[in-house]
Amino acid sequence: MKDGSVLEMRNIHKSFPGVKALQGVDFTLRKGEIHALMGENGAGKSTLIKVLTGVYGKDEGEVSLEGKGAISIHSPQEAQKVGISTVFQEISLCPNLSVAENMFIGRTDGMYQNWKKVNSETEKILKSMDIPATATQQLGSCSVAVQQMIAIARAVDTNCKVLVLDEPTSSLDEQEVEKLFKVMRDLRAKGVGIVFVTHFLDQVYAVCDRITVMRDGQLVGEYEIKDLPRPMLVSKMLGKEMDDMSDIHGEFQTYKPEKGVAPVFEAKGLVSDAGIKPFDFHINKGEVNGFTGLLGSGRSECVRAIFGADRVTGGKIKVKGKEAKISKPIDAMKNGIAYLPEERKVDGIIGDLSVRENIILAQQVLRGFFKPFSKAKQYEIADEYIKLLSIKTASADTPIKSLSGGNQQKAIVARWLFTHPDYLILDEPTRGIDVGTKVDIQKLVLKLASEGMSVTFISSELDEMLRTCSRLVVMRDRKMVGELSGEDLNQNKVMSTIAGGDK
Ligand code: ADP
Ligand code: MG
Repeated sequence: MKDGSVLEMRNIHKSFPGVKALQGVDFTLRKGEIHALMGENGAGKSTLIKVLTGVYGKDEGEVSLEGKGAISIHSPQEAQKVGISTVFQEISLCPNLSVAENMFIGRTDGMYQNWKKVNSETEKILKSMDIPATATQQLGSCSVAVQQMIAIARAVDTNCKVLVLDEPTSSLDEQEVEKLFKVMRDLRAKGVGIVFVTHFLDQVYAVCDRITVMRDGQLVGEYEIKDLPRPMLVSKMLGKEMDDMSDIHGEFQTYKPEKGVAPVFEAKGLVSDAGIKPFDFHINKGEVNGFTGLLGSGRSECVRAIFGADRVTGGKIKVKGKEAKISKPIDAMKNGIAYLPEERKVDGIIGDLSVRENIILAQQVLRGFFKPFSKAKQYEIADEYIKLLSIKTASADTPIKSLSGGNQQKAIVARWLFTHPDYLILDEPTRGIDVGTKVDIQKLVLKLASEGMSVTFISSELDEMLRTCSRLVVMRDRKMVGELSGEDLNQNKVMSTIAGGDK
């Protein structure tokens, strides 16, 4: 054990059926530091935290606290007892109880029987952490930030050595984040080691001392913040070298819009209730563009606003030059817009229905359910798209859930193609599918565009975006921060724009 470290995790392995979530990960936390745990979605951050806090058992490896040898932790309660506290993203407190009740309920020290003492203790803690709330106030009447801080106050009793914060800031505004940071810094000064998971790069550089980067279940490295400038952090998270110039230049990168033709879709100051900053956006006929940025940067929220999938709270929209109102998906569909969502398991696939039924679904919604397609027509359509997209299925009647992920994805693409959209939005259409299918979908995107369809394509894989898009909109911390086209469409430029800042 190195000097000053409060926690060491060594060679941690954890598998789920079919997934190696952690493959020999090491993690060291020092006393009195704020340590960012970074990595794209699926990197293994939450699994590492859950192993640490006893939510999951580990397959292999060792955890030790303050150099006292290996310990095993079987539940979050056990973790808390040895001094490891966690505040998860969703605050698990009771809004209709008082602040004091929330602070002390379920504590084992018998305190909760003496309300006077509980209330005065609570006031003391609130004061010491500078939390703007009173002990007797109902928790639900406090702002989310204050609730968050109360959750932290509850978590950090006197015995706390390690505090884990898994994305605590995602629903906070700037001032609230500042307050939270103050609490974190005060705890750091008291010697608590803090593990901080966030998608916001600005926050990492504002408050952290060190960074551990993970990718695909493996440790990429551990860095002092001053040794890891932002573009390098992004490059480590994405697994791309900054100076890798092997960019693919497709014909569409020189795409020129037809003169005098209004954009297929145009938005000014568009904003939704999903926490993105208002943005301007347009796409021309036959153009493929993309939204890029780290996960959580707001790329999906932008396209969800375009499609009316989140509640749109402001902005003006024009479709083919005419003003339009899109406040829900059906409005977008009627305006010729189709959207393949990111979470296809949640938003897209209806597992028990057949491939055929899944394919015709969106068009059937547009027609109205009182005008069903005939069975014969349904088979004709299904067979056409199964062939067009080479969907590997025993028949059109096979339940879609028995297909591989890639083939399910193709069926959902087929569903939207069959609505004959002018503008198709594909959010992560190639995530988690095999390489062959990936290439099929990229080719299809380029073919559709050459036939005049406009496509917005989102992918976590930068090369894929550079191969297919002629223009990339760059997002950071829920704000549109740049737009790249032509010669700027290369990996270095994209990564440095994503990273931003002057570090
Ligand atoms: P992160 O928090 O960095 O986004 P996770 O730790 O949640 O990553 O996930 C790492 C990998 O483990 C992913 O491939 C994820 O799908 C998988 N995984 C996480 N939890 C489970 C689970 N309970 N069952 C099966 N697979 C899981
Ligand atoms: Mg996670």
